Amino acid sequence: MEHPENDTQYIGLTVNQGVPQPPITNPYMTRRKRKPLPSAAEMVEGILKGDVTMLSRAVTLVESLSPDHQKLAQEVIEKCLPHSGNSKRIGITGVPGAGKSTSIDVFGLHVLKQGGKLAVLAIDPSSERTRGSILGDKTRMEKLSTHPGAFIRPSPSAGSLGGVARKTRETIILCEAAGYNNIFVETVGVGQSETAVHSMVDFFLLIQLAGTGDELQGIKRGIMEMADGIVINKADGDNIDRARLAQAQFKSALRLFPPTASGWSPEVLTYSGYFELGIPEVWDMIDRYFDFVMANGYFERRRREQARFWMYETIEEQLRNHFFQNPEIASMLAAKEEAVLANRLSSFIAARDVLERYFGKDSTEG
Ligand code: GDP
Repeated sequence: MEHPENDTQYIGLTVNQGVPQPPITNPYMTRRKRKPLPSAAEMVEGILKGDVTMLSRAVTLVESLSPDHQKLAQEVIEKCLPHSGNSKRIGITGVPGAGKSTSIDVFGLHVLKQGGKLAVLAIDPSSERTRGSILGDKTRMEKLSTHPGAFIRPSPSAGSLGGVARKTRETIILCEAAGYNNIFVETVGVGQSETAVHSMVDFFLLIQLAGTGDELQGIKRGIMEMADGIVINKADGDNIDRARLAQAQFKSALRLFPPTASGWSPEVLTYSGYFELGIPEVWDMIDRYFDFVMANGYFERRRREQARFWMYETIEEQLRNHFFQNPEIASMLAAKEEAVLANRLSSFIAARDVLERYFGKDSTEG
């Protein structure tokens, strides 16, 4: 029987000898040496001069989980603390699509036109899951990202909301020491993170959208109560009337709220971030707020209360970490949890057993 495929013209069909596998790493590449870390004093000196590279490195240390980095970061923060505080800290929240980044871009430029510098930070507790934050992303703030007076930093990604928030608060201190006299802290208006942002800013701006007629349904009462100003975005084109209607609804809803601790009555404005309409008016409201709370002493009081809040927050966070990151506790917890789920053990006894082991161990060791 003839086998045409064995003919030399079909030689390509035969199995050829393989070639040796090249190494997966480039043999010509030499390992790049890491730049040694500057000392705390060098970092502080750079930060106080407004050196952005040094500021970024210090923020990276703040965000790092390594105990050595943390130690250095704390030293830097401590030395920067006397140079901090001199800024307007503004929290900006809104659901995804509300127009936060578009607005921050134009609000930011408006602020920078008045002189000074602006740092845009973000708190996004979900960023650990989504890898790479959706907030504080430079590509979403095109104009600001190329402005020499703006420093944009995405959300720290590791850890719990408490941890992420603490890092952002520490970053605020570093930015202020570097001369940033305007700080924006952006967050998505969908969960707990507003409370965290509220606890580190002087003014809390809530960005809303008009459109569905039931604007008030979608937002949690607590968030509205935190707002010092509510702004309805996308008041442009045939959306203007709806935006005005939403404005009226928000205004009447706010009237039902108890007076704020600051004595300030939250205002509701409409604007268009995209078409840059009504921006000076929004900023004028914020400026008036600052004048108001500086005059009546609330500004200082709130900052002091926030400082105290962060002291306890930090203690709680570290205690929790110390407990849950203890390997022995972690494995004991897993076993106890299983027993509780199987109804073999009550929750309270399980908790007591674990805590006894923790405290007993701590007191004998320490
Ligand atoms: P974010 O998710 O809150 O940061 O929202 P973005 O800033 O990314 O905006 C979401 C979408 O709304 C984008 O497609 C924007 O172009 C659009 N947008 C933002 N501001 C306005 C506005 O003032 N008017 C109109 N018509 N569209 C806007």
